[in-house]
Amino acid sequence: MAGEPQADCLFCKIVSKEVPATVVRETDTTLAFRDINPQAPTHVLVIPKVHYPDAASLAVAEPQIAADILREAGTVAADEEIDGTGFRVIFNTGSGAGQTVFHAHAHVLGGRGFNWPPG
Ligand code: 5GP
Repeated sequence: MAGEPQADCLFCKIVSKEVPATVVRETDTTLAFRDINPQAPTHVLVIPKVHYPDAASLAVAEPQIAADILREAGTVAADEEIDGTGFRVIFNTGSGAGQTVFHAHAHVLGGRGFNWPPG
């Protein structure tokens, strides 16, 4: 059922603590933890505790939780002190855009310069 934990989902297993992660923030609806393969000095993933395959489907089904993800991304940036110089919040959506884990997540990246357009 939509939103229910999926047995084969890595991020559902991180939510249930079955798979360990370095958690930096937790709320009733979200979890923020460090990416295992950081692409910047700060690279944190903010995920909903409920399972949706990507941010777009989460926003349709649970708009408040989608808003929680954005708020938490900003809070992580402030906590990590990357908000002054600027940071990126990225939702890779679909394999063609680089999505590899099909549980909605925001990448929060900072602590270095970024190019535009992104690669
Ligand atoms: P995507 O490619 O789907 O946008 O992002 C998935 C992210 O999850 C990648 O940046 C990848 O490094 C990260 N990741 C994959 N497996 C793990 C894991 O077991 N633990 C953590 N903390 N991050 C992971």
